[in-house]
Amino acid sequence: MKVENIVHNLLYEETKATKLFLWLFYIFYIAFELIYYYLFPNLYSNGGISKYKEGLGLWYYFFIIGIFPLAIYYFKKGNPYIIKYLYIYTFIVIDTVHNLIIYMGTDKQFAAGSIVEVVFILFSPIFVNKKYYWTVSLGMVLKYGLIGFMIHDIQVVAPVIIYIILSAIALIILIRFESFLDSLTNAHEELRRKEKLAVIGQMAAAIAHEIRNPLSSLKGFTQLQQERYPNTNDFYPIMIQEIDRINSIVEDLMTLGKPKEIKFSKANIEEIIAYTLSITQQEAERQGVSVETTMTGPLPPLDCDSKQLKQVFINLIKNAIESMSEGGKIKVSVKVLDGTKMNISIQDEGSGIDEESIPNLGEPFFTTKTDGTGLGLMVSNQIVQDHNGEITIKSSLGKGTTVNVTVPISRNYRKI
Ligand code: ADP
Ligand code: MG
Repeated sequence: MKVENIVHNLLYEETKATKLFLWLFYIFYIAFELIYYYLFPNLYSNGGISKYKEGLGLWYYFFIIGIFPLAIYYFKKGNPYIIKYLYIYTFIVIDTVHNLIIYMGTDKQFAAGSIVEVVFILFSPIFVNKKYYWTVSLGMVLKYGLIGFMIHDIQVVAPVIIYIILSAIALIILIRFESFLDSLTNAHEELRRKEKLAVIGQMAAAIAHEIRNPLSSLKGFTQLQQERYPNTNDFYPIMIQEIDRINSIVEDLMTLGKPKEIKFSKANIEEIIAYTLSITQQEAERQGVSVETTMTGPLPPLDCDSKQLKQVFINLIKNAIESMSEGGKIKVSVKVLDGTKMNISIQDEGSGIDEESIPNLGEPFFTTKTDGTGLGLMVSNQIVQDHNGEITIKSSLGKGTTVNVTVPISRNYRKI
């Protein structure tokens, strides 16, 4: 969704909630005033209070109705967010002043509390807004606290207790709403990410598939040419090497679209690592990188697709080598965890990864290298996940990176 659309939808939701708020506010306000101050005093003619003759008198209504045009103005201006605060602040201020005028310096029994205060509190989950919630709850408590303090009347305790209870209920609902909305947003995000990946994957796989055939004939003919005219020039090995590079990129792209089916069989982890190191040895030497391998304890055979795991370790060791432009040491260590998992850690002394890039690792095409593809980690991640395993990366900028691959030893221990 585009940002403008999101803003527009939020505005629409807020407008809807605010309209409902205004309706309920005025309906409850008018009904309450009519019943409490006109109906009751007339029914029980000697009791009751006629508010319009006391305190702020008609000014009270003037304010409450007078802010309505302001509300309309803010709607028109496209800023409905402010309206609820306009009402709560206005209400608290004039109701406090009103009560103080009536009760201060008299020994009248304090009788206050209005149904619209309940409307204010119960609207905080509807606005799904913590700031509004705290404004209302603290506002109400402070209002009654101040009135009680000024008129020295313990009666204010009753509305304070009621509003604290109501606020607690409102808070519980508000938190539930928020966490519900959060999980909904997360699920939506995840779905979008998966869809994006699926589309990229299918496209990439389709293109890769088309490239593969002409590429293999190109390689074949180049090899043939080299055999026929071995002494003409030295470009053939480079050409073949580059074609192989394209080929490996194309293969990565194909795993993106349709993950190859994994063929589990018992394999020896020592052999997998040894093979990986033999493939990457040349590049390591060129960069002045040495590799140290530690195998701890007797290592049981690993239930895995060894061809694919080799691909994972080639990717990870290549990344480690590429991060060390000035040479250094890579430590590869293999150990058994909890008797059920195999842990392979690859630790380099390279450039490390800056904090901002960490969330992007494993995203297709995310790379910081000029000739990188940004597919290595994503393919590796997919393969390890297919093995019910997990890759974790710890990195410290300028010091190095440790990549941990953990996979279940046997398929009977699938849970990790
Ligand atoms: P590529 O190697 O083609 O860039 P990868 O998916 O293998 O793609 O890696 C993505 C990015 O992750 C790299 O460009 C690099 O910035 C970062 N990265 C991966 N491994 C390491 C590492 N060992 N040290 C530093 N950065 C790394
Ligand atoms: Mg890589």
